Amino acid sequence: MSDNPMPAKLEDKLFLLKITRDDHSHIEILSNDVCLRCEEKWCTKTCPAEVYHWEGDHIVVSYENCIECGACRMICPYNNISCVMPRGGFGVQYKFG
Ligand code: SF4
Ligand code: SF4
Repeated sequence: MSDNPMPAKLEDKLFLLKITRDDHSHIEILSNDVCLRCEEKWCTKTCPAEVYHWEGDHIVVSYENCIECGACRMICPYNNISCVMPRGGFGVQYKFG
């Protein structure tokens, strides 16, 4: 039997990150028309920080929660997300691991 505690939940790990929020988004949806035709909306299901939400007829981007993992750029089948590094001094800081 292992004495290891249960692995931390993702929400617990995200809580350990330090994010310096910028007032300028480093993420942009290139075409809302493309999102309207996108049935799966993979960005809303893939981002570990829940940055993308479908509200009514468009994607809302909570860029300030981004942990810069890069998954959204790879998962969008229409290459419809521009996600660059935040400006210097802003963004996520990993304190553990
Ligand atoms: S996966 Fe891409 S095209 Fe689909 S909703 Fe998200 S950003 Fe839009
Ligand atoms: S880079 Fe990662 S955390 Fe940031 S929006 Fe894309 S999937 Fe979400």
